[in-house]
Amino acid sequence: MTAPTVRFAPSPTGLIHIGNARTALLNALFALTRGGAFILRYDDTDLERSKREYADAIAEDLAWLGITPNRVERQSERIEAYEAAVAKLKAMGRLYPAWESPDELERRRRRQMARGLPPVYDRAALKLTPEEIAKFEAEGRRPHWRFKLEGRTVSWDDGVRGPQTVDTTSLSDPVLVRADGSFLYTLPSVVDDIDMGVTDVIRGEDHVTNTGVQIELFEALGGPVPRFAHHNLLATTTGEALSKRLGSLSIRSLREAGYEAMTVASIAVLIGSSEEVHAYPDLASLAPHAELAGMSRSTAKFDPHELDTINARLVHALAWEDARARLAALDADLGPAFWSAVRDNLAKLPDVVEWAGVVRDDGVAVRADGEAEFLAEALRLLPEEPWDETTWGTWTKAIQTATGRKGKALFLPLRLALTGRDHGPEMKRLLPVIGRRATSARLS
Ligand code: GLU
Repeated sequence: MTAPTVRFAPSPTGLIHIGNARTALLNALFALTRGGAFILRYDDTDLERSKREYADAIAEDLAWLGITPNRVERQSERIEAYEAAVAKLKAMGRLYPAWESPDELERRRRRQMARGLPPVYDRAALKLTPEEIAKFEAEGRRPHWRFKLEGRTVSWDDGVRGPQTVDTTSLSDPVLVRADGSFLYTLPSVVDDIDMGVTDVIRGEDHVTNTGVQIELFEALGGPVPRFAHHNLLATTTGEALSKRLGSLSIRSLREAGYEAMTVASIAVLIGSSEEVHAYPDLASLAPHAELAGMSRSTAKFDPHELDTINARLVHALAWEDARARLAALDADLGPAFWSAVRDNLAKLPDVVEWAGVVRDDGVAVRADGEAEFLAEALRLLPEEPWDETTWGTWTKAIQTATGRKGKALFLPLRLALTGRDHGPEMKRLLPVIGRRATSARLS
């Protein structure tokens, strides 16, 4: 099998959310495991709603998730290719003009429903006489253009759903070109898939209903028909579809909230699959768990709380070498001993800033009422450096012997004096990081 080519084809009309990321990642991982190519294609023929800043934001969000497209395409730059396809379809008699207004179509549809007929376009436009057409044109009316379906059984073997068939007789001839000459999604998508050599179309199951029409169009245009795979969609726990309006689940906001990219990527891919949701450290290790054939067909419910649990596990396993650049960017790279002391206490990596502050700032010290004498004694017993993870044990044992205190009465005043908090990382690991000078200062 030759290497596949896939594409992720967002309309740049908003930020992408975790459900869109699922589509992007399934494509990217499919290409990754097969040495294939990933095309980022902006479906931006809707000039009114498409925005350059959304396109840039999508590229940035994909990069954050670890996806680097092999190629970037914009439909707005390919209008000539679509015009050529239109000319070809017209010459073949597969694209015909229709003049009905939306109101007319709606009335007709209601009449059909009332009679118990399926609301399929009746091809009235094909029965117009030359005089009627001349009259419309004289009135200055401009037609929209419909693709004439063959009306047959179209089949494909879906990569997720298995064998599928659609009877295109049950479908209306789709409008490909609007009266103002602009293109609806169907034709540019198929033309691009042919021209760009797309071998596998991996997308959400909201597009299953388009596939029958698209296969007819691929064949009419003489292009090879790609393989299709339609994955299930993500919904909120209450079953609501994710949309671009649900800003809280945008990739942007998850990143800004401090989640790891691989937390978001792993959840986006694995949720609702038979695999346990687990955060893999990189896309290469996630890839084997993203096989399309193993995906569930029912809607996957996404519970944002899962982000926290899974993210914490990922951060706790993060090696200092891998965290270092980001710690530095947060001005919180206090070395490997600091990182291993605090990482188990972090829900999100940026929380590290708090602990870096605790280590650096002697002002955090809280000297509990009535403990002055106890702390003075602790200061007297403070071991000389060098310090390591045994220092805390040696020191507190000496304090215990001298004061007779144990348990909370022994440890809590020390923790408060050293960190200003009554909970946090293990003191035996934190103490050497705070160091003798700062410890003395906080006890006095
Ligand atoms: N622009 C379409 C969408 O975002 C692309 C669908 C497709 O992958 O064919 O839904």
